[in-house]
Amino acid sequence: MVIAVDGPGGVGKSTVASRVAEALGLPHLDTGSTYRAAGLVALRSGAPLGDSTAVLAALDGLDIRIVDGIVSIDGVDVTEDLRSDEVTKASSIVATHPEVREQIVALQQAWVAKQGGSAVVEGRDIGTVVFPDAPVKIYLTARPEIRAARRSGDAEAADKSKDQIAAELAARDHADSSRKASPLRPAADAEIIDTSDLSIDEVVERVLASAARHET
Ligand code: C5P
Repeated sequence: MVIAVDGPGGVGKSTVASRVAEALGLPHLDTGSTYRAAGLVALRSGAPLGDSTAVLAALDGLDIRIVDGIVSIDGVDVTEDLRSDEVTKASSIVATHPEVREQIVALQQAWVAKQGGSAVVEGRDIGTVVFPDAPVKIYLTARPEIRAARRSGDAEAADKSKDQIAAELAARDHADSSRKASPLRPAADAEIIDTSDLSIDEVVERVLASAARHET
């Protein structure tokens, strides 16, 4: 069974998805890392990020793999490189191209199929586009100031002010929600959980309860 966990940045998606995966003994796919890999490839190739043909050409023939959360491109571990600001911004731009998304979505679906079809998959469009038939769809939200506060605890944000983090989150939300291709939005049948005033444990409990309901 696929458990789809969608939502914007800073809502606790990755932590919740990995804890749920661990509790259920399922593999966990962070689809953000696949768009980050595409962004990194585009940056390194010098392809203009807004040019979908050039980005696709840069991706052509590359072997992008994700094994136990380690992302490699043609056998080289790039996991650390994916967390830079530059790659974060680039991932959001290359993710606007429908043709790029098509390739990346195929990679995500193949990854889950290889795991036997069951996984916890986190992203922006998992319940709406990548696995529209997933029996469990969760959409996490949180108030903007809470998301910025959580992000400020991340290692990548160590040298940034809260205002800067909040502005970057808002810019990415806008880009992700307003794009034409697979915009960030809850699936009609998603369970929406506002994590603002909940602990991680409480959110995990709610997702596990939802998964249990669908198993019976
Ligand atoms: O989740 P993360 O911050 O790593 O995602 C990086 C970017 O990848 C997002 O801002 C978004 O533009 C894109 N993305 C997406 N669809 C997904 C996951 C991520 O468009 N399923």
